[in-house]
Amino acid sequence: MKVLVINCGSSSLKFQLIDSETERCLAKGLCERIGIDGSMITYSPADGEKEKTVTPMPDHTEAIRLVLEALTNPGTGVVSSLEEIGAVGHRVVHGGERFAKSVVIDDEVLAAVEECNDLAPLHNPANLIGIDACRKLMPDTPMVGVFDTAFHQTMPEEAYLYGLPYEYYQKYKIRRYGFHGTSHSYVSGRAAEVLGKSYENLRIIVCHLGNGASVSAVKNGRCVDTSMGLTPLEGLMMGTRSGDIDPAIIEFLAHKENKDIEGILTVLNKKSGVLGLSDNLSSDFRDLEAGYDRGDENAIRTLKAFCYRVAKYIGAYTAAMNGVDVICFTAGVGENAPLVRSFVCEYLGYLGVRLDEEENQKRGEDTVITTPDSKTTVMVIPTNEELAIARETVRLV
Ligand code: ADP
Repeated sequence: MKVLVINCGSSSLKFQLIDSETERCLAKGLCERIGIDGSMITYSPADGEKEKTVTPMPDHTEAIRLVLEALTNPGTGVVSSLEEIGAVGHRVVHGGERFAKSVVIDDEVLAAVEECNDLAPLHNPANLIGIDACRKLMPDTPMVGVFDTAFHQTMPEEAYLYGLPYEYYQKYKIRRYGFHGTSHSYVSGRAAEVLGKSYENLRIIVCHLGNGASVSAVKNGRCVDTSMGLTPLEGLMMGTRSGDIDPAIIEFLAHKENKDIEGILTVLNKKSGVLGLSDNLSSDFRDLEAGYDRGDENAIRTLKAFCYRVAKYIGAYTAAMNGVDVICFTAGVGENAPLVRSFVCEYLGYLGVRLDEEENQKRGEDTVITTPDSKTTVMVIPTNEELAIARETVRLV
């Protein structure tokens, strides 16, 4: 079956068409600046040239219409008609406590997802708009929602509750939810597969280090803790997000900088993390690594602080699982930055980690980067959230 995977944001939409039998991506692309002047679509068929077209996209329905047109284009398309697309898988950011698994989308599910909008006001409404637009244009094609939060729903109470008045959990569902679940699930499962070991008998820590970054503890195939919380602001320091801070800093800074809470949250979401700590050098780890190589003190300080935090979470999750068998690095930074992996592993001597420097230089493939005598196995596993969504979609339809 050919599955269209859609990841819809407020002004952008990423798509991939995946053949579920071969698990090959047939075409992929991106619509940008939806509803804004200068909108454009980028379309890359697997066996052809990438093309970029500037064209008006007043709304998401028009964006999806253009995606379907590109996929069925007689010259550069990869399917002859829309009937060839057997199902659509949608990434949905927040499923609250309601969705511990992916679901086939119907009106009732949409209403329940809408109830979670409060918890992810930037993401969920955009995801819903994408689903709505797809249903309009492909009314007979089954659609599946795959939630970023679902994999983490197995966390025990002691891991997901905050030290706040319990009534706030009861009244407002304030708790840890976690994100990147599709990636944490895919990568931990893949690690077991690559090692030829039973997923149900492993303690795995996944470090998803991208522009957004999170760590999860996966014990015997179930997530038992993760670093992002009610929102994706908690946990590791990220590209532009602060991660964990003393909550009292918010009031302190609001007075000092004469900002309201919204203004402070903009700082915490957009101006902090490695961008802020590097004194605005960059949020991109390629720039930080280059800075490190030329001895730039902003880059050195930032990389050290970032890696220290990753190591601290690994320590915490080792405790949570009473040990760890496998540690995985994934996503843009985790897959491509040997320096970051090596800095993190320097903290892991107590786990008997022995890094194989040569293997650590490899990119883009499933690799064990520790030596055979290393007590704990460390791996690089490239994530593939689109493939995971396509698999879920096929399983459900
Ligand atoms: P997201 O999906 O959260 O936007 P990604 O997982 O795509 O993020 O990761 C993007 C980040 O990966 C970039 O901001 C960059 O810092 C990092 N990155 C990508 N390629 C490299 C590289 N070759 N070396 C170091 N870092 C890289």
